[in-house]
This record gives sequence, C-alpha cells and structure tokens, in this order.
Amino acid sequence: MKKKEFALEVEGLTVSFDGFKAVDDLSFYVDEGEIRVIIGPNGAGKTTVLDLICGKTKATSGSIRFRGTELTKLKENEIVDAGVGRKFQNPSIYENLTVFENLELSYPKGKKVFGALFFRRDQEVIDKVREVAREIFLEEKLSMKASLLSHGQKQWLEIGMLLIQDPALMMLDEPVAGMSVAERKQTAELLRRITKGRSVIVIEHDMKFVEDIADRVTVMHQGKLLAEGSMESIKKNQQVIDVYLGQ
Ligand code: ADP
Ligand code: MG
Repeated sequence: MKKKEFALEVEGLTVSFDGFKAVDDLSFYVDEGEIRVIIGPNGAGKTTVLDLICGKTKATSGSIRFRGTELTKLKENEIVDAGVGRKFQNPSIYENLTVFENLELSYPKGKKVFGALFFRRDQEVIDKVREVAREIFLEEKLSMKASLLSHGQKQWLEIGMLLIQDPALMMLDEPVAGMSVAERKQTAELLRRITKGRSVIVIEHDMKFVEDIADRVTVMHQGKLLAEGSMESIKKNQQVIDVYLGQ
C-alpha cells in the first residue's frame, strides 16, 4: 500500500542550543488544507518549531519536507519561494505607512510585470490589496496609518501581509494574543476562510479559539510531542491536563 502523502512531514526534528534540546526528536504530519494548532506550556519549543520550518534556525538533525521538498537544506528566502509564510508573535507592520501601503509592500515582487504592462500591473496590485483588505476586515481602513489601528487590527493587517503572498503553508504564532472576544471570533472565521488551498499551523494558548479552528492539535512539552489528535481527545488526555490544561 502506498504511504499517505502529507503536505508537511516533520520527522525526528531536533535542535540543540549549547547542549539544551529545545526541540527533541519531534515528528508530526500536516495534511493539505488542514489547520493544525500547536499548544503547550511556555518554553515547550513551539516557536522554535516555526523558526526551524522557516529556516530562521538550522536543525541539528531530522527532516522537514514540504510538498516533497526538503526544507532543512534551504536558505530562508528559498523556503519562502517554496511557499512557506510566517507571522511572528509580535506584529511587525510599518506603523508610519497606511494599511494600503503595508499590503502593497508585501505583494510578491516576483509577480511584477514590466514594460507595456505597467498600468495593468498597478491595477492588478490595487485590486489584490482591496481583495485582501476585505478578507481581513480592513477595507474601510485602507488609507489609515497603521499606527492608528487597534492591536487586533494590527494583527489582522499582518495576516493580510502574509495572505497577499499566497503561501501554501501559513504559520501564525499566537495570532489572537491581546484581542477582544469579538476580534477572536472574527479571527477564527477569517482563518477558516483563508485555509482553502493551503495548510496552516497556528500556535495559540486560547483554548476556546483552538477549539473553534483546529482540525487537529499537537501538544508539545519539553521539546517533545506529548499528544496529538482532535481537540476533544486532547481535552480528555490526562498527561495534557497535568502539564498544561490543568494549570
Ligand atoms: P515556546 O514558544 O513553546 O514558549 P520557545 O520555542 O520559544 O518556546 O523556546 C523553547 C526553549 O528554547 C526555551 O527554553 C528557550 O529559551 C530556548 N531557545 C529558543 N530559541 C533559542 C536560541 N536561539 N538560543 C538558545 N535558546 C533558545
Ligand atoms: Mg512561543
């Protein structure tokens, strides 16, 4: 029987910082179109896993295959070209630019067409910026300076800056941190909507939010995989309750 093919295959992934294994022999598999949420106590190694996948940190051993391409051998920009996009824990938008300009800057340069198509290219970028702004609930704020947005709206803008690059694997580190309850609900709906045709990995602590969005949950503890499965099964897992949920 043919082995099932996943979009992302992480196997035996390990990174050691001066002998301390922040990620320790971790394996997990993410399907095409899946929203996977990684949970676990602070220091479990969750952010480091995203650093390894996007090439910010080099693995000590193990492999990360995305749609058949081995990522551990690639440079950060090559990993972006392979279709991997990542949002960091703190929004890294340009505060002094407008929402429109922030999105425009993130439009992939490689897609630009020169010469006679100049006008068409501009129109194409404008249309795409509007489309993405609508998706992230900021269509009415296109000419507003990013510094004037609420914290939640800044988080959405950064999701938009990722979305406009159309990554096949989108990774988000604590996207609803600091958001109101209403904004969290909207963000869950937003993530559900933008998953089509791509895979998403989200790190999050808000269990209500995790329950709203996760297809499957991976629980990490001390760099290792502690448990994996549906949110329903994770909530009942005694080890997970002991090290994380019961806190
Ligand atoms: P989480 O996101 O689950 O809270 P992290 O992945 O940020 O955890 O960190 C896991 C552990 O690895 C922590 O103890 C952290 O201090 C350590 N760590 C992360 N990155 C580095 C680094 N570049 N150098 C040394 N230690 C690191
Ligand atoms: Mg973290």
